[in-house]
This record gives sequence, C-alpha cells and structure tokens, in this order.
Amino acid sequence: MKSRRRPYAEQRPQDVGGGVWSVPVPIPGNPLGYTLVYALESPKGPVLVDAGWNHPDAWDALSGGLAAVGIDVSSVSGVVVTHFHPDHAGLAGQVKDVSGAWIAMHEDDAALVRLMHDYAAEEHESFQSDMLRRAGADPGEARQAVSRPTPPALPDRRLRDGDLVDLPGRKLRAVHTPGHTPGHICLHLEDADRLFTGDHVLPDITPHVGIYPYDRDDVDPLGDFLDSLDRVADLGPLDALPAHEWIFPDVAARAAQIRHHHDEKLVRLRALLAQRPEPLTIWEVAAMMTWNRPWDDLSPMLKGMAAGEAAAHLRALEARGEVRRVPGVDPVRFQALDS
Ligand SMILES: [Zn+2]
Repeated sequence: MKSRRRPYAEQRPQDVGGGVWSVPVPIPGNPLGYTLVYALESPKGPVLVDAGWNHPDAWDALSGGLAAVGIDVSSVSGVVVTHFHPDHAGLAGQVKDVSGAWIAMHEDDAALVRLMHDYAAEEHESFQSDMLRRAGADPGEARQAVSRPTPPALPDRRLRDGDLVDLPGRKLRAVHTPGHTPGHICLHLEDADRLFTGDHVLPDITPHVGIYPYDRDDVDPLGDFLDSLDRVADLGPLDALPAHEWIFPDVAARAAQIRHHHDEKLVRLRALLAQRPEPLTIWEVAAMMTWNRPWDDLSPMLKGMAAGEAAAHLRALEARGEVRRVPGVDPVRFQALDS
C-alpha cells in the first residue's frame, strides 16, 4: 500500500467537525514531520489534546494554527497530553504560561516527569551509559548514544484510567493504554464515537515500544502494549484521531492489525534465537533483527532505541516462557528455551 504520508509543508489546520480542530505542529529535524494537536471547544475555553515539540517554529505553528481556526492560544483552558514525550508535552508549559491552562497527564507518566526533573543531567548520563554497557553496547557507541532529554512541564492534574477530562458539556474519558510509555492514554470522546489515540494507534506506522533500563525484568511494556491494543479494539470501530500521520476510521481494525504484526515479529525473533543457541546480549539480538535500514547504518541514538525495542521483545518472550535470561552474567544475555 502506498503511504498517504505527506510532508509538514502540505499540512493545514482543519475543522474536523463536531467542535474539534486539528493543528499540525512541526517536529524540527524529525522524519515524523509533525504532531497533530487537537483543540476541543468548551464553554470554559478550548482544551488541547497534546501540544507539540518545544521549539520556536513549533510554537509559531501552534499559536498561528489555532488563530487560523479562530482560537486565541491565551484562551486555552487546559492541555491534556497523551504521554510525556517531547513531541506531545513539549509545548504544554508554554501554553500554560500564556493562558493559565491546567496540564493533565496520566499519573504514571507524571511520575516519570517528576523523576526527570529531580535527576541532574550528569546522573542521567551515568545511568544511561551504565544501562548501555549492561546491554552489551561497545563503549564508543554507548558514549554517543547517551542523550540529555529536557523534561516537559510538570502536570497540574494527574489522570487515572476512566477519569473524565475537565471539558464541560462533553464526555472525554481517559483510557489507560500503557506500552509506548507507562502512562500513555487514549482519550475517548464518548459523545461523538471518536478516540484520540496519541501514539498508541497510528494509521501507517507503529510506535516505539522499548524497555529502559534494558535489563529490567519487573515490567513487560510490549505485553502491556498488546493488551492495550486489545483494549482499544474492544471500544469498537471508533474514528481515530492520532497524534501523527492522518485521521482514519475504525480504530478496532487497525489495533487488531498492529497486534498481528507484533505477534508475528515475536515468532520471528523466537525462531532467530533458536538458530543461535549461544546466549546473546541485547545489542547482539538488536543487530540480528530487521529495522528500516541496515543495522550498521543506524546512528548510535537509533541503535540505542532499537536495543530498547529488542529488549522489550526479549522480555515479552521471557514472560511467555520462550526465552530465558542467563543468571549472573554482565552484560545480560538471553537464549531460546526449547519449545
Ligand atoms: Zn511518543
């Protein structure tokens, strides 16, 4: 199928009907191109779903795009973010600064944002390089893969699964869909059979699902993500308003398709591991998997993300009893169990 993806330059703010507008906000230097920020009408002032990347060009696109559909950014009453990532929550603080809006996010992502604020940059770097070493990255690559994220603004309101967002006259309910982040939420506009899907369900691509630190064995983000897809599929054939790409019908069908894609990927990884009986590091497994370009062409940062994804797949297979973690070795190693 030919991708319907169009560059940011071809995107325009749109009235998508029913008191909802979409405003494309660029993500400078990122192949994803843009975040779709949605504005919902409300008697107290519009509420935004996500806010976009924190960059002057993005701010101009957000405030200018809202103005183009008749909304003054200073009248915004609230920003509910689907998850804490910078292309979603980045501009929430600036919207709050000019409008006094509240910021809401799921409590699990709020806890991560709190942690990012509390961690000094140096602590963050040593944490990351240690995690990369334990995954089997070579020291040179590990040095280059370390990044220094800027934390988004702390939320004023913490949401839990099932909570209604403060949107008088309408019913916008948080649906906890962990996987892409622990506190990712979709937002169900129940009075209009629409679902704001954030990054959880996108029409053409699938979101990054990784595990950090890579060697954690107390969480299973890919397992959570697959359960969250089932959860969204159970909501029925709602219209999806995603944070990237384009609006599409029947979120349940797309959720089922993504679930199938990951189930197949897990089967392929299990088969790959069975051909390599010696215990492998997360880095070695990542290098064996198929990415959108050859492993050696990935930048250190992309290799770090690929390793996160490999780790999430290994952990999901471990949780299903199909691979085992070799005890007491550093870096951590995995091997297939006989089935
Ligand atoms: Zn994201």
